Amino acid sequence: MSHQSSQSLPVIVVGAGPVGLTAALALHHLGIPTAILEKDPEGRQRPGSRAIYVHQKTLELLEGIAPGLGWTMARHGIVWPVKRTWFRGREVYARRYPPPDPQKLPPFTSLPQVEIERHLWDALHRTDVPVYWNEEVQQLTVADNAVHLVTSAQRQWEAAYVIGADGAHSTVRHQAGIRMEGSRSANTYIVVDVAEDEAHPLPLERVFHYEHPAMEGRNVLFVPFAGGWRIDLQLYRDDAVDAFAGLDGVRSWLPRILPAFYQDRVTWVSTYQFLQVVAESFVDAHHRLLLTGEAAHLFAPFGARGFNSGVPDAILAARAADAALKASDEGERVAAIRSFADERRRAALYNRDAAGIALEHIQGESAGMRAKRAAAALLSPVWPEFGRWLDEGPYGPRSSPPGVSTKY
Ligand SMILES: Cc1cc2nc3c(=O)[nH]c(=O)nc-3n(C[C@H](O)[C@H](O)[C@H](O)COP(=O)(O)OP(=O)(O)OC[C@H]3O[C@@H](n4cnc5c(N)ncnc54)[C@H](O)[C@@H]3O)c2cc1C
Repeated sequence: MSHQSSQSLPVIVVGAGPVGLTAALALHHLGIPTAILEKDPEGRQRPGSRAIYVHQKTLELLEGIAPGLGWTMARHGIVWPVKRTWFRGREVYARRYPPPDPQKLPPFTSLPQVEIERHLWDALHRTDVPVYWNEEVQQLTVADNAVHLVTSAQRQWEAAYVIGADGAHSTVRHQAGIRMEGSRSANTYIVVDVAEDEAHPLPLERVFHYEHPAMEGRNVLFVPFAGGWRIDLQLYRDDAVDAFAGLDGVRSWLPRILPAFYQDRVTWVSTYQFLQVVAESFVDAHHRLLLTGEAAHLFAPFGARGFNSGVPDAILAARAADAALKASDEGERVAAIRSFADERRRAALYNRDAAGIALEHIQGESAGMRAKRAAAALLSPVWPEFGRWLDEGPYGPRSSPPGVSTKY
């Protein structure tokens, strides 16, 4: 098959999801010419029900590569002033926060991923980075110190480095022969987004219910975001998923836990068994293909570590490519790429384990775990630290991965 003539760039980004957009902005910030190759057509609809919770550190990192971007996301998101935890229909923990200091980026912001991506696109459109749509990367080969890419548009590309931000089914990762290692959550989760009804607003509170009595003891998490609410329902292992999933399934149970009219305000429903996997290496054997975001790791969303760690992946990959392009010898070049790959894999393993601890906290069915949760609920009125343990458990450890230059 004949190929159109090849284009050459120092770095090419594969994938125009939030992590690929971040990588392109970071490369632009470093003055490195780049382009994004995206398999989908322009104007595609992106799935709902994904990232909403963006940490302060992520806002700071985005602000650092595209001044104004972190503040824009903060302005368009919300910060809830109250969080609550209930156990079998009784409140066991509540905490109020003072309003965030308007001079500082907030501790977090909550807005739908489609909006997060819209702000990343706005920032990218202020640069001269080109995006090539309908350009699915199908083949990558490393030869003569360069990566050669062939796309579905039968175009050839060449780059010194490729940042693979092409998501969970990453072609970049497959072509490099890199495997994912890890497991899958035992339980199924139904994730539902509903649009806020401005005439009947719900209280601006993040609420976790252990063993919600109206849901026959299933766990339910309510998270507000700008313009709506996220509801996570955790099914029992032997539940018939179809009875709860899809629009009809959701309408059968949502009125038990939200005012009835919200069943007509459902904007997205997804069903997940969460993967907890990390790539065995974040770089290929030639130190030319750098994996970032979901191309490199997938975590259960408890603790919000997916996009929040994809951002440092992307920024450190761009910095590593910059250092490698400037390296004076092969040893220095390889060391620059390795330091990205080692740091980000270490972070991903930690993040995967942290999300695993959160999963065990909420879905662990051993007699010991069940007794621990019930005892904490019983003791919480007297010793609030037990209530706090129940409150913080669903999000995993608060500490950062050891030995990393970013928070996640
Ligand atoms: C229910 C849920 C809740 C979540 N909540 C949070 C949260 O609150 N906070 C948080 O930080 N994270 C959260 N996440 C995780 C977050 O959604 C992901 O980490 C993030 O979307 C990953 O972005 P990405 O750019 O790596 O991948 P994607 O968004 O999948 O983007 C990959 C891009 O690559 C393109 N592509 C694929 N193959 C090719 C190819 N061969 N050639 C060219 N282009 C290609 C795709 O079309 C796509 O545009 C959540 C996830 C879920 C499922």
